Amino acid sequence: MNFLGLLARNRLALLGLVVVLMITVLALLTPLLPLADPDVTNTANRFKRPFEDGAILGTDHLGRDLLSRLFWGSRLSLAVGFASALVAATIGATIGIIAGFHGGWTDNVIMRGVDMLMAFPYILLALAIVAALGPGLMNALIAVAAVNIPFFARNIRGVTVGIAHREFVDAARLSGMGNTRIILTEVLPNVIPVIIIAMSTTVGWMILETAGLSFLGLGSQPPQADLGSMLGEARSALITNPHTSVVPGAMILIIVISINLLGDGIRDALDPRLKSGALSRPMPRTLVRRGEPSAGKGSSALLALSGLETQFHANSRVYRAVSGVDLVVRPGECVGIIGESGSGKSVTALSVMGLVASPPGVITAGSAHFSGQDLIGAEYGTLRRLRGDRVAYVFQDPLSTLHPLYTVGEQLVEAVRVHHPMPKVRAREHAVGLLHSVRFPNAKERFDSYPHELSGGMRQRVGIAMALANDPDLIIADEPTTALDVTVQARILTLLRELQRERGLAIIFITHDFGVIAQLCDRVAVMYAGRIVEEGPTDAILKSPAHPYTARLMACVPELGQERRRLTAIPGLPPVLDDLPDGCAFAERCHRATDACRVGNIALAGLATERVVRCIDPEFRAAGTA
Ligand code: ADP
Ligand code: MG
Repeated sequence: MNFLGLLARNRLALLGLVVVLMITVLALLTPLLPLADPDVTNTANRFKRPFEDGAILGTDHLGRDLLSRLFWGSRLSLAVGFASALVAATIGATIGIIAGFHGGWTDNVIMRGVDMLMAFPYILLALAIVAALGPGLMNALIAVAAVNIPFFARNIRGVTVGIAHREFVDAARLSGMGNTRIILTEVLPNVIPVIIIAMSTTVGWMILETAGLSFLGLGSQPPQADLGSMLGEARSALITNPHTSVVPGAMILIIVISINLLGDGIRDALDPRLKSGALSRPMPRTLVRRGEPSAGKGSSALLALSGLETQFHANSRVYRAVSGVDLVVRPGECVGIIGESGSGKSVTALSVMGLVASPPGVITAGSAHFSGQDLIGAEYGTLRRLRGDRVAYVFQDPLSTLHPLYTVGEQLVEAVRVHHPMPKVRAREHAVGLLHSVRFPNAKERFDSYPHELSGGMRQRVGIAMALANDPDLIIADEPTTALDVTVQARILTLLRELQRERGLAIIFITHDFGVIAQLCDRVAVMYAGRIVEEGPTDAILKSPAHPYTARLMACVPELGQERRRLTAIPGLPPVLDDLPDGCAFAERCHRATDACRVGNIALAGLATERVVRCIDPEFRAAGTA
């Protein structure tokens, strides 16, 4: 969704935008409007009430037309407020970027100077500057800008420090760019949203400060009108002729409120984290919008997915991430799901427990029966009780799933106690036992380590221990070894295999590596573009893959000791999910494809015992079939 669209969703911000635009347009057009001269005094006409003798807003103590003075005054106040915001932002951001980017003593010297400025109460500082430069609107502008520079400098420095050590800045440096170019092309584009946000939330404040200085007689000088000086002059007639103060006061109120509403809206709309979620928090379970749920099949199954369809509805487009997946997992069985990145493996796995983020995720069809109970559309309470208890997940990167501020022990204890309240001491014993069971060396001593103190393999062992915490029936492991190196991966796989045997666990193991499937899984389902294209016992599929996609995936795996074999990458790219082709989604990349592959819906067809394939011309046919 684009920036304006997001802004428009926020009603208050939209209102602010409309008011600010209206006032700005009026201010720009003021010289063209048929207004009385704002500075002509006529003491005979002083203190006219609104609508008296054609003066719409009345007149002030010198008989000057208030409507005209209001227009000219708003024009001046807006101009000075925006100008000082612009000056403060430019100078402050420059200082902040230089300090943050260079670091070291440059940073120290600059930021200590900024700290000194910040140590003065801002209004005293502004008064001192005006006192030194002399009263006048220009000097008020300089004073307001100057006292706001430290705010921008601090803000932008913090952001820049974070960016200056990122990989893309290192890459730019390695490619030979100079500092100035890196700042302009790499750092600045990342900082600009922050500058805009800081500006939009402070313009209102600066208009107020300018008005304050004018009110004290240090800003605009008579007879020139700005909102602050109008208020100041009306002070003596506050009781007798309140309209002279109410008019500029109300204007200041309206301007500042609408600018602040707009600023808040801009901040929300520019924040990239809010952009994809469209300003709303994800729901605690995936949205379900399906017609008639299908009945669960296979009473012996622990988990039975049937016709599962999960889509992402974003920007009025529909991305069909999972379109009709059937899969059965029996107790104690390990089922592999394999496919290229983006084929819908994770979304399938997350849909089971309603963990796909909504918005934008929607489950549009199908069912997921776990021990006979349909989980799609189940109450949040039901899902919550099952999550981490009967069904546990292990994710790819344990560093991002473990909380960095708690020790692994505390997190394990929490995982246990969420589902089975027990005294801390017993939960702790149980947690140490869990670490032992995942062959965690020195479990007792490392219990109080933080995640960052452990190696990748150890962290993943903690992840697995956490999944085991409540003795689940099913573990869904989503590429748990992808972030690990090969030897650690082998150890984790051995561990999973042993745990599966010891505890009679069922495992859904998601990976893109056939080598891993071969070591661990009893059965395997091959996914492509959100559908299962082949499924069957691992041995049989490894020996004779039927779908050309399976065959090509297997050809991508290197084998030790076979140096002559050529590795062939699959040519082309997977199809885009918001515009899936008719017929077989793999046809575009398949060497066996014919015109017949590109029409209709190709169903999963039986091939041999327990084997199905979604292909009209499979690579392998069981004896006896044509
Ligand atoms: P993988 O098989 O690599 O695990 P995923 O299941 O994560 O693939 O993703 C399947 C498809 O769904 C991908 O094309 C991905 O772009 C899309 N997708 C995943 N999450 C979202 C999301 N939050 N919004 C939009 N599209 C998504
Ligand atoms: Mg994935």
